[in-house]
Amino acid sequence: MTADHANRAHAKLSASGSKRWLSCTPSAELEAQFEDSTSSFAEEGTAAHELSEIWLKYHLSQIKAWDHGELWKQAQKGKYYSREMEDYVQGYVSIVLERANEAFKRSKDAIVLLEQRLDFSEWVPHGFGTGDVLIIADGIMEVIDLKYGKGVPVSAEENSQMRLYGLGALDGYGYLYDIQTVRMTIVQPRLDSVSTEELTADDLLSWGEDYVKPRAAMAAAGEGEFAAGDHCRFCKARATCRTRAEDNLKLAKYEFRDGSLLSLDEVGDVLGRIDQLQKWAEDIKKHALDQAEKHGVRYPGWKLVEGRSNRIYSDRDAVQAALLAVGFVEDKILTPRELLGITAMEKAVGKKKFEELLSELIIKPTGKPTLAPEKDPRPELSSTASAAADFTDD
Ligand code: SF4
Repeated sequence: MTADHANRAHAKLSASGSKRWLSCTPSAELEAQFEDSTSSFAEEGTAAHELSEIWLKYHLSQIKAWDHGELWKQAQKGKYYSREMEDYVQGYVSIVLERANEAFKRSKDAIVLLEQRLDFSEWVPHGFGTGDVLIIADGIMEVIDLKYGKGVPVSAEENSQMRLYGLGALDGYGYLYDIQTVRMTIVQPRLDSVSTEELTADDLLSWGEDYVKPRAAMAAAGEGEFAAGDHCRFCKARATCRTRAEDNLKLAKYEFRDGSLLSLDEVGDVLGRIDQLQKWAEDIKKHALDQAEKHGVRYPGWKLVEGRSNRIYSDRDAVQAALLAVGFVEDKILTPRELLGITAMEKAVGKKKFEELLSELIIKPTGKPTLAPEKDPRPELSSTASAAADFTDD
């Protein structure tokens, strides 16, 4: 049997939400008023974790070939299983096996543990999580976490979730093995991203004692100051939180200088506020619609109505038959068959085959110019005006 990935319990002060409750301590108490929800992305992640565990157990000789075959067959019947998932999971499995082999090279007594409950309640009341992989060898302990999402790359540097897992691992195994270094690694196979932070065990323990412990105690008691920031993105209270609203309204309120037109500086400042304001506005709209539609909530001045819709065929085959019967030819009424889009094709044929057969036939056209903050790592483009000026100078 594989570990119960879907039912990994979520504590009030969970490791995955730690960036939020460490930055905004009363958010843990406020969030408790909201229901837990699950998404198809979370379910897909669970399926990928289960599949990776089946393969890792097999490669690490923790299950017999026959059991592996049976478990794999079951996994392939799952709603989210696809060739694409198999390829990505194999990519993750090879990274883990590489790390495990390095550990065995350092020490023949290396140990590799899968799906370990990591208890960090020494620092966070009732705090625990599950480490996907734990490798211990020669004074070095590595915690590896699979993230199956394909949103944005998540860095392991200063990542509080990974550090809490590291603390849990130290607490659970530090007394058995003399551990000096803790490595915390995040693997995101769909983004080709592997990120590791390495800390001495002493530094990690000091972070736990000096930073986490006092803030976790405040969070558990619902104390401290609300503080809005990037961490609000995944907070259950994000749509109706007063602090976030006030923070955004402060952002929206801008002391414009005189003159009929905005200056370059003023437009630059406004650009820097737009993304956050947009996210907040979208959160409020989504929340209000959800409340009105599913719970019958009425907001003064607003009502639930039917949105605009486009005409659709009720029976496509009947439409085709009716037209052909009166003499219309197929070329006139049918669109030509088209190739699948790149993502759908990758999913249909599998990542490996896709790369093998099509890598030279895929091109990446230049992206449309977009405005980005100065600290963005992409090189600056020259504008049409400056290109024209360069041309004139020549
Ligand atoms: S939305 Fe932001 S400010 Fe409000 S409780 Fe959540 S984390 Fe704190």
